[in-house]
Amino acid sequence: MKELRDWLNDSSIKNTQGRELTYNSIQHLLKNRRYMGEYTYRDIVVPGGIPAIVPQDLFDQVQERMEKNKKALARHKAKDDYLLTTKLFCGYCGAYLCGEGGTSRTGVVHHYYKCVSVKKKRTECHKKPVKKEWIEDLVVRGTMKIVMDDAAIEAIVSMLMDLQSRESSSLPLYEQQLREIETAIQNMLNAIQQGILTKSTKARLEELEATKEELETRIACEKLEKPKISAEFMTFWLHRFHKLDVRQKTHRKMLIDTFINAIFLYDIKMVITFNYKEGTTTITFADFNATLATQKTGSDLDCSTAPNP
Ligand SMILES: [Zn+2]
Repeated sequence: MKELRDWLNDSSIKNTQGRELTYNSIQHLLKNRRYMGEYTYRDIVVPGGIPAIVPQDLFDQVQERMEKNKKALARHKAKDDYLLTTKLFCGYCGAYLCGEGGTSRTGVVHHYYKCVSVKKKRTECHKKPVKKEWIEDLVVRGTMKIVMDDAAIEAIVSMLMDLQSRESSSLPLYEQQLREIETAIQNMLNAIQQGILTKSTKARLEELEATKEELETRIACEKLEKPKISAEFMTFWLHRFHKLDVRQKTHRKMLIDTFINAIFLYDIKMVITFNYKEGTTTITFADFNATLATQKTGSDLDCSTAPNP
């Protein structure tokens, strides 16, 4: 990234403010998902929403490389390596679970999620810390199950469609008002044609014309702000998650960020709430380990069996 920065500065390429490019601007540039055509509006992401200038596989390669570099740079810090930070809560006291690293007597570094109440030695909570890899694998597996379930995907899409139509609920209202105004203007014009003309007619007509113009602007803005996404496109977009490689950190992170709302962790079970209506799953660790033992599905994930460190 430093080489890129120097090369661009040597070539007299400036940023939008006309200043020299910095290390941070290169980083920002390389991470900008718009370059591969991704359009984002609030929480809505539309892949291919704008013309791509960087192919997806190249973009992914760059992200992976940057991730590797970052790891090499700050291996022991590794703060955002904790994928469940901000999503994981203690089932007993409701506090966050935060990432924590510890070195064992043999010099091996272990990563845990620990209840903040326990960390701060508040006596009311006794939640045991859990191994980072173990809990993350469990959550990723649970989420992938939903992603691979066509009925669940269908439910998500119908919920999104519903949400989408509710979000732009002012549009039909504006359109209705516009039709009424247009009728009123037409009536007024008819009256003028028939020679019915009072002092207030002109003022009233001007008023109506002004309202009409305002409504047209509002409708245009509303349509511009809320691009309609079809159910087919949503399904297509969600199906892209089928192809995720859950061994890759960036993919795991994407999966968690997209689907997981919160996880309440107990010593014997966890309750996952997903980012869609009625999307709650309870996984008891005993059940989970039992299914693991019977299934032997040859999954991609290695999951340690013990919930406790
Ligand atoms: Zn707690």
